[in-house]
Amino acid sequence: MEIFSKIKDCFVDLLFPKQCFGCEKESTYLCEECKKKIELNKKFYCIICKRQTQFSEICEHCQKNYFLKAVWVVADYNSKILQDLIHGYKYKYLQEISGILADIMIRYLNENKILEIFCINKENSIFLPVPLHKKRYLNRGFNQSELLIKHLRDYLQIPAQKFLLRRKNTQSQVDLKKIERQSNVKDAFILINSDRLDKNKKVILIDDVVTTGSTLNECAKVLKQAGFKEVYGLVLAQRED
Ligand SMILES: [Zn+2]
Ligand SMILES: [Zn+2]
Repeated sequence: MEIFSKIKDCFVDLLFPKQCFGCEKESTYLCEECKKKIELNKKFYCIICKRQTQFSEICEHCQKNYFLKAVWVVADYNSKILQDLIHGYKYKYLQEISGILADIMIRYLNENKILEIFCINKENSIFLPVPLHKKRYLNRGFNQSELLIKHLRDYLQIPAQKFLLRRKNTQSQVDLKKIERQSNVKDAFILINSDRLDKNKKVILIDDVVTTGSTLNECAKVLKQAGFKEVYGLVLAQRED
């Protein structure tokens, strides 16, 4: 498989030569100069109500209806370069961008010492991708969160697992209002092999972009109901509703 994927990459390079999404310089999707232009998010806030919290925990007020302990938003969605990179990654199927995006996530975690503060390490934690429905997976050919996780796992040594399944092929959340989003993803996820899982592990859900947080929350709900104690989210950016 590896060799086929390398051959495919070569063809993609030939047909669509790489260009920096920031300055159009050739041979890379993001040059060193433009990399510096992507600023990390300096604000810590509850992603639901936007109140400031110490390290992006879900605030006390929102905790009642949300199952996540904290959601870390790595960068500002208004950064044009970042938006273009995410778009290129998801909709132009440029899988190689996953490494660039994961690097930004790692930089954020390191600079803010998030893993230390929340005692997240390779013994007690796992990364879990927000799953795509099979149909969408087949259309796109990859799950954007899974590829991000591969890099995160390799670099941070925190294991990755896959035990959430999306059973409803939900409509894309992009054009829906908040209340519609909630019902759109309601009961969309199930756990597989639940009794074989170590529920003491802290789970870090990975997704590319969060909007209202409904999808992450629905995943977290299933995990908490199955007995997991701590569920977190790590995303590249938050799009305004
Ligand atoms: Zn550039
Ligand atoms: Zn809140």
